[in-house]
Amino acid sequence: MKRANAEIIAVGTELLLGQIPNTNAQWISQQLALHGINMFYHSVVGDNLNRVERAFRLAEERSDIIFVTGGLGPTEDDLTREAFQSLSNIEMIEHEPSIKKINNYFAKQQTEMTPNNRKQARVFKGAKVIVNRFGMAPGMIVSANKKIWIFLPGVPREMKQMFTDEVIPYLKEFVSNDDLIKSKIMRFIGIGEAKLEHELREIIEAQHNPTIAPLAQHDGMTIRLTAKGSSEQHVDQMLQETEQQILEKVGSYCYGINNQTMEQTIVDLLRREDIKIASAESLTGGKFMDKLISVPGSSQACRGAIVCYDPQVKMDVLRVSPETIRSKGTVSVECASEMAENVCSLLDANIGISFTGVAGPDAIEGKPVGTVYLGIYADGYKQVEKFTFHGDRETIRERTVLKGFERLFRFIKS
Ligand code: ATP
Ligand code: MG
Repeated sequence: MKRANAEIIAVGTELLLGQIPNTNAQWISQQLALHGINMFYHSVVGDNLNRVERAFRLAEERSDIIFVTGGLGPTEDDLTREAFQSLSNIEMIEHEPSIKKINNYFAKQQTEMTPNNRKQARVFKGAKVIVNRFGMAPGMIVSANKKIWIFLPGVPREMKQMFTDEVIPYLKEFVSNDDLIKSKIMRFIGIGEAKLEHELREIIEAQHNPTIAPLAQHDGMTIRLTAKGSSEQHVDQMLQETEQQILEKVGSYCYGINNQTMEQTIVDLLRREDIKIASAESLTGGKFMDKLISVPGSSQACRGAIVCYDPQVKMDVLRVSPETIRSKGTVSVECASEMAENVCSLLDANIGISFTGVAGPDAIEGKPVGTVYLGIYADGYKQVEKFTFHGDRETIRERTVLKGFERLFRFIKS
């Protein structure tokens, strides 16, 4: 069987108006690339019956697997079912377990269930129903005219759970095994595009399968490896071997594979080494610790943060010496150094990290916008580095946080 071609139709006027970005299409595409399914088209269509139906007809002509997200809810503008029915003529029935679930929900909330809520429980006859663990409307996989239609809710959290739990296992059976293509993403921090390509030049030039595609992203470099082979095992092995070759050259910069984030990696490392961290944050305003705490299990690695934006707070709460602030200023090696050391001892951590700098738009203490000092303190060891970042206020704050992760990653690994 030839390889399946997929497309995604995201339904929702809010997407067309630019109120929200189409992250569902981005996320689904990433997942499919990892599983060797070709993605050929993304489209967005508003909540309009006629246009949704036209988008469906076009998709049916050109794709084998059609993902549709959004428009499965109870309201008038949720039109996905109606549009597909008019295209396929497949009868709709009420899905009993979903009706029960909706009834239970309203009983628990002690609110009256409006009749339109029943609409969410309607599914196409013969469809494989996908349970929605986080919401009401079930998803569906429907075969019609030799095409596979996969209907998922618009809400990203619901969509992702259903995709991971039910769609991927389903597709694995469907995808043909000859000429299987699979990708793997390697993630790097602390190495630029030029250096990465330079280090890997020989490997990249010699290699055709897997292909090696570096890409600069706002939070570091990625390399996408794409291998083609006759079986999953064969493809996995090829990816593994190339990954190994790359790691031998630039492994010290690699922090994760596929969807692994920098903050997950840091939390994993800290937990593995039983290290507790605390941060003293001036221009970052707690962003650094916020990212770490977003990772489940961070309670075993994070002690906390002191947001010390005002110089007085640096002195009163963080006990930075007034003499340092008077003579060197808050944006200085000395201030960053005391901030890191003091937060470490005040919050009873093993590592203290500090951020102080000029986010803009105005200079501070005669230091230009973008000047940042980053301090790390651990058990008598001290390091303060100065950076100059460019961009607007938010960009400078984000780059500062990223630099903190990079330096911390390097520090823990060394
Ligand atoms: P509900 O039952 O909540 O009505 P639904 O399946 O009808 O779900 P929509 O009403 O289309 O889905 O979208 C619900 C919300 O999900 C939107 O307000 C939006 O925030 C988010 N959403 C929808 N489509 C996308 C998309 N393509 N990418 C990211 N977010 C989306
Ligand atoms: Mg809706």
